[in-house]
Amino acid sequence: MKASELKKKYLEFFKSKKHSIIKSSPLIPENDPTVLFTTAGMHPLVPHLLGVEHPEGKRLADVQKCIRTGDIDSVGDDTHLTFFEMLGNWSLGDYFKKEAIEWSFEFLTSKKWLNLDINRLGITCFAGDKDAPKDEEASKIWLSLGIKKERIAFLPKEDNWWGPAGETGPCGPDTEMFYWISDEPVPKVFNPKDKKWVEIWNDVFMQYTKTKEGRYELSKQKNVDTGMGVERTACILQGKKTVYDTELFLPIIKKIKELTKEENEKYFRIIADHLKASTFILGDERSIIPSNLGQGYVLRRLIRKSIRLGKLMNIKDNFTSEIAKVVIDIYKKEYQELELNKDIIINELNKEEKKFNETLESGLRQFEKLSSKGAISGKDAFILFSTFGFPFEMTEELAKEKKIKINKKEFDEEFKKHQELSRVGAEKTFKGGLSEASEITARLHTATHLLHAALRKVLGEKVQQKGSNITAERLRFDFSFDRKLTDEELKKVESIVNEKIKEKLPVIKSITSPDEAKKEGALAFFGHKYGDKISVYDIKGFSKEICMGPHAENTSQLGKFKILKEEGVASGVRRIKAVLEFI
Ligand code: ATP
Ligand code: MG
Repeated sequence: MKASELKKKYLEFFKSKKHSIIKSSPLIPENDPTVLFTTAGMHPLVPHLLGVEHPEGKRLADVQKCIRTGDIDSVGDDTHLTFFEMLGNWSLGDYFKKEAIEWSFEFLTSKKWLNLDINRLGITCFAGDKDAPKDEEASKIWLSLGIKKERIAFLPKEDNWWGPAGETGPCGPDTEMFYWISDEPVPKVFNPKDKKWVEIWNDVFMQYTKTKEGRYELSKQKNVDTGMGVERTACILQGKKTVYDTELFLPIIKKIKELTKEENEKYFRIIADHLKASTFILGDERSIIPSNLGQGYVLRRLIRKSIRLGKLMNIKDNFTSEIAKVVIDIYKKEYQELELNKDIIINELNKEEKKFNETLESGLRQFEKLSSKGAISGKDAFILFSTFGFPFEMTEELAKEKKIKINKKEFDEEFKKHQELSRVGAEKTFKGGLSEASEITARLHTATHLLHAALRKVLGEKVQQKGSNITAERLRFDFSFDRKLTDEELKKVESIVNEKIKEKLPVIKSITSPDEAKKEGALAFFGHKYGDKISVYDIKGFSKEICMGPHAENTSQLGKFKILKEEGVASGVRRIKAVLEFI
């Protein structure tokens, strides 16, 4: 079965179990400053797992594109990728363990669906500890479905527990499904540490809340969050041994092979994975280009690593964009953004390749010179980074190959000195990285709505939202307007927002259809495609906008609103950066 059919079947199956199929989110999280990329299907749903009502209901399912840079060092093995697609189904305080496990089992083994061999399945459940009991509830359900006792393994928190993300919040045991991938006979006893058992699906049961005192209490709202890897599942459905042997990779590897006479399977895999990830990041709805910061730096690392491996195999220049074209062809039907952004993807890859080529040789010479001293100081590594464009991780790899030491701490210090704010490496892998949907983010969201409405009041209705981005420190709002704002206008906008904060207005959420919302005068993000049901946030009498939230409950929670900066970002587009002060 091809991957596209697997995805179709998955959604069809959960639709038949009364789930709403929701849209996949961009790879670059919209308003979550705590992670660089969407690393799991649950990530965009965090506010809803924490209790915000979802407009499409309590049962949801989707296909989500994901990037996990945390797995970058495993890429090249049979099952770990930096870019992959995740199938997921969720219960927001609706069904729980019994249905979730039964449906996982039915989808995997029923003739009508994937028809996988039950004898090749292995299951892990939570073993229990001082905080929470062994998950017999889950294992009993598996046994009742016909899974043999020897095929169920009980593992501790490190393996079979999820969350909470911060110090407190929802968490709970999970149960993982593995599949025996080898041609050797299936061992009688399931051993999840044996690599021939491949994890394909994970059902997380958020049934506890960790309190400030460190206690695990049963939650009022119990959620289910599941994630199933498309590449791994397609691989086993096709009887293949690695994710690279499926149609999601074969044309890419074939193209790489055409470009070189070398035979280095591991390099083929890494280049294929990294350039696929790069293509998706460049082609994302919220496209990012290579840089020395944040997501742009991750992208630069992925591209430059590919180029370096390409060089080691004597691949000629400008090959990364050739590979990207193959990636676009594989995915363009399902991800139209790749076709739409094709020019950006190709131009940026060519540009990045050119930039790197210009300094690569002199950089490598410099590296040789420095490494002859037997160690590379942080300062040296920083020069390689800033002058020759070597991502630190690349210098680190080169040093490893030469078995010489490198001082990362010193590099980090140098780096901090030179960058005002570095988020590099700040990405937490999402397992355990649940954003606290922090209060402050919610407040900045609400402040953004007030700002939008105030701008329209002062400058007129031609002001339209062009973009918005929130970090833990500030909000950023882009809008259409054709000239610089005067100091007076900025003061006026600021004081209107502060007035609305003083008026202690309630922020009221309702759920409706996009058409209905627009009829009622709610502002929508121009050009955005909405689902059938959406949330509208109404700040009484002042602002009404379609938005996913989360928001403050009342404007009184907002503190003092202050505009830091107003500037032009493109022709006809202005940008405001603002903060909330709490003193
Ligand atoms: P593993 O232990 O194999 O790294 P995981 O525990 O990190 O997997 P989850 O976080 O539970 O995986 O993600 C849910 C599913 O997503 C997995 O069962 C798997 O099918 C898929 N998946 C996770 N990480 C990757 C990856 N790096 N590449 C491809 N698929 C992945
Ligand atoms: Mg993992």
